Amino acid sequence: MSNESAMSSDCIRADARVAGEINRAAVLDLLRRQPVTSRVALARASGLSKATITQIIEEFTREGLVEEIGPGPSELGRRPTLLRFNPQARTAVGVELGEDACRAVLTDLGARPLRTAVRAGRVLAVEEIADLAAALLGDLPAGRLLGLGLSTPGGAALPSSGPAEPELKQQLASRLGVPVAVVSPAKAAAVGEAWSGVGREADHLVYIRIGREITAGIVARRRLYPSAFPGDGQLGHLTVAPGGELCPCGNDGCLQAVAAGPALLTRIRARLRARGVHRLAGPPRPGGAAALEELGLADLAALWEQGDPAVREVLQETADYLGIAVAGLVNLLQPEMVVLGGPVITALPMLVSAVEAAARRRALSSLASEVRIVPARLEPWAAAVGAAAVLLSEVALPTARPDGAAGPTGHVIDRRTAALTGGAGADP
Ligand SMILES: [Zn+2]
Repeated sequence: MSNESAMSSDCIRADARVAGEINRAAVLDLLRRQPVTSRVALARASGLSKATITQIIEEFTREGLVEEIGPGPSELGRRPTLLRFNPQARTAVGVELGEDACRAVLTDLGARPLRTAVRAGRVLAVEEIADLAAALLGDLPAGRLLGLGLSTPGGAALPSSGPAEPELKQQLASRLGVPVAVVSPAKAAAVGEAWSGVGREADHLVYIRIGREITAGIVARRRLYPSAFPGDGQLGHLTVAPGGELCPCGNDGCLQAVAAGPALLTRIRARLRARGVHRLAGPPRPGGAAALEELGLADLAALWEQGDPAVREVLQETADYLGIAVAGLVNLLQPEMVVLGGPVITALPMLVSAVEAAARRRALSSLASEVRIVPARLEPWAAAVGAAAVLLSEVALPTARPDGAAGPTGHVIDRRTAALTGGAGADP
């Protein structure tokens, strides 16, 4: 065989292997959504041939991912054998490197949280992340862990005091011996809510994270929308109040400059001061928020309950600004669901219905009547859970060898190949 034909047969083998992994990933995705199913139903839903489905189910059965549970209801005279998915056959770890804490979660194959761990403060060292993952894994048998998903602010660039992201990813992967995927927080949270949060029944959703910034992630056809650049969608820099507050980005009237956590607090303090209030009345939290400077998001819910006019006014304005942004997204992207999350929504859940009302007033009525605008369900774990889900969506399950030994470590599917073969894939 000439060098050239040896090389091309290597390429064909590699293509066949990648196609096989994509098919396995597609079937796994269907099993996540429909844990009790049949080979016929899987073939129909995936577009794969019955022979391919039979082979994949044989592999999955050997690997403990699927078991037969007897005949199902008859279909055209035949009763298909029902299969049951075992999502706990493998696990993934998701870690969010937040500004104030590092949150880690162990999930099953459906990204459902099994165990959680938190470390306060800013965590950037590989050793600390690896230790947190090891603590979560506990006595779980080796080989059960498929990989680790990491959510970092900015996605591509870590804060300057830490290692560069590619290095961190490489160091973590070699320390843990599993693949590592990196994703930004709002993108991660979008996938987390879609897989195991409030968006489980939605194919298309937008997640908006409202905290110190306002960012967004989009899920289309249950997959993360693959934007051209890493990092979260910068919804916070949408102009909602031209000529208004200055934003650090250099523009004026950015959504973030009026509706993010710090902006909210600044505006409420200013209104209270204008009313001659310099100290808060009753201590709404232990220790008491006395001086206005100490006012935090947690105090606002109590002040809202008390009917404080400044708080009610500013929160209504905030909801109106957020409603402008949400209506724009609804008109543009036509999602089934808009999920509101992040620290501001966690502290002030009453904002959701006000944002919903404002968005419904502004969005096209045909879309406004269809879209659901809901609070996130997984906070404050949405980004950590989503990082695990992103890892699970990108990593091919290692095929077990017929002798039952664990297969090679799974690796990240080349997404360009996945795109070329249509993701869920036609038959090889
Ligand atoms: Zn801005």
